[in-house]
Amino acid sequence: MSTAIVVGSGPNGLAAAVTLAKAGLSVTVLEAADEIGGGTRTGELTLPGVLHDHCSAVHPMGIGSPFLRSLDLERYGVRWRWPEVDLAHPLDNGDAGVLVRSLEDTAAGLGPDGDAWRSLFGPLAEGFDDLAEDLLRPMLHVPKHPVRLARFGPRALRSATSLARRWRTDRARALYGGAAAHVYHPLTRPAMASLGLMMVAIAHRHGWAIPEGGSATITGALAAILAEHGGTIETGVRVRSVDELPPADVVMLDVTPGAAVDILGDRLPARVRRAYRRFRHAPAAYKVDLAVHDGVPWRNEACRRAGSLHLGGTLEEMVQTERDIHYGRMPERPFVLVAQQYLADPSRSAGDVHPIWAYAHVPHGYTGDATEAVIRQIERFAPGVRERIAEMSVRSVSRMAAYNLNYVGGDIITGANTPVQLVMRPRIAVDPYRTGVKGVYLCSAATPPGAGVHGMGGYNAATSALRAL
Ligand SMILES: Cc1cc2nc3c(=O)[nH]c(=O)nc-3n(C[C@H](O)[C@H](O)[C@H](O)COP(=O)(O)OP(=O)(O)OC[C@H]3O[C@@H](n4cnc5c(N)ncnc54)[C@H](O)[C@@H]3O)c2cc1C
Repeated sequence: MSTAIVVGSGPNGLAAAVTLAKAGLSVTVLEAADEIGGGTRTGELTLPGVLHDHCSAVHPMGIGSPFLRSLDLERYGVRWRWPEVDLAHPLDNGDAGVLVRSLEDTAAGLGPDGDAWRSLFGPLAEGFDDLAEDLLRPMLHVPKHPVRLARFGPRALRSATSLARRWRTDRARALYGGAAAHVYHPLTRPAMASLGLMMVAIAHRHGWAIPEGGSATITGALAAILAEHGGTIETGVRVRSVDELPPADVVMLDVTPGAAVDILGDRLPARVRRAYRRFRHAPAAYKVDLAVHDGVPWRNEACRRAGSLHLGGTLEEMVQTERDIHYGRMPERPFVLVAQQYLADPSRSAGDVHPIWAYAHVPHGYTGDATEAVIRQIERFAPGVRERIAEMSVRSVSRMAAYNLNYVGGDIITGANTPVQLVMRPRIAVDPYRTGVKGVYLCSAATPPGAGVHGMGGYNAATSALRAL
């Protein structure tokens, strides 16, 4: 029987482990932390009975992932829930851009920009599942759906600001801009339209789904499938060198390219080592979890029903804040992402005390305290929230980096989405999962298709390993 070692139990590590175990390999996962899941863990961070997602919260990529869908996670305890409003983007005048699964209802809410929204996102949402098969794998491949890809490509390669010119109202421009800002890179650069297009298209296709009980239920389901196929997991084992590992036919590294250099040492071909060392990391996240009495008193009514909110003001303001963090400047009013998972999943709350998940985009390696900036940004659109806060848990950038070895300098997306790294990561190669060391593969979010809980990096890397075997 062939054997495999997987280093790291994030969603990509577990996806690789499941794929290899299902193919008949004997799989062992080694995880540095005491708890499995990497960016997909849940716990009581503030008060007893109030459940917070430590990292990932909202899972459009989970429900839209070809790999995760193939696993029938529902059979292993994942129950998807949807809030009434998928995403709201409040503005200072009390107005808000509102995204719901229904394309028609979203377009109707966008007034004069509704037609332009519908004509762009209608075909993308309809063809999303086909498109995902081509987009969630390495760039260099024979496309399965060339016509859809040819339609998507030219738009995706534009900057987010140039694509947003098709809308006139602040409401529509900000709604798209907030989704685009997930790219964590200046919105004026080429190819920065792509992620926003995907995030909105997937919202209209599958919704921004939330797993009941928290993101850890996805981890639990993947671990259960692995166990069903004979795989085992050991926690509290940090792998520092490949020499520490027992002999194995396949080694999967759910780590950063820099960590792969450390683990593989001289075995790594010099050109790969150079490429991994050149790999660029993204700006950081500063996380603030709140336990709030009676929920957040948003000024805009739709915000009170929204699973996700983007607090960044107008598109122009977000262009400035994202540029600032890119150049290492902390903005006074950072872009803040908020999730109210309890609206779709009341099991997260304790009575009338509800968990509010929030993080701000801040510069890479930021050493300051951004807690007050995050609360002020929430208060800007929800006056009076401060008085309702019962408890708070803060994860600064340095604590973020300590929490997960993959969050270098607080980078939670495992590598900057520069135009080059967006399409070719972690290096320019036909098979980006290969490290150049026989049997050893990189499978983390540093590989295509990048960040998000979709397991596609792990699945693609394991498929590459199985081909070689
Ligand atoms: C605050 C925050 C919010 C997010 N929000 C969302 C969201 O709403 N939706 C979404 O889809 N995604 C979200 N993400 C991103 C998502 O969590 C990640 O993209 C995803 O977890 C990446 O999976 P991965 O398996 O590549 O790595 P990770 O999940 O980071 O897991 C890597 C694992 O490897 C382990 N490891 C690393 N090095 C070693 C070593 N040397 N030895 C042993 N173990 C090692 C780590 O301890 C970790 O457990 C968020 C992330 C953060 C931090």
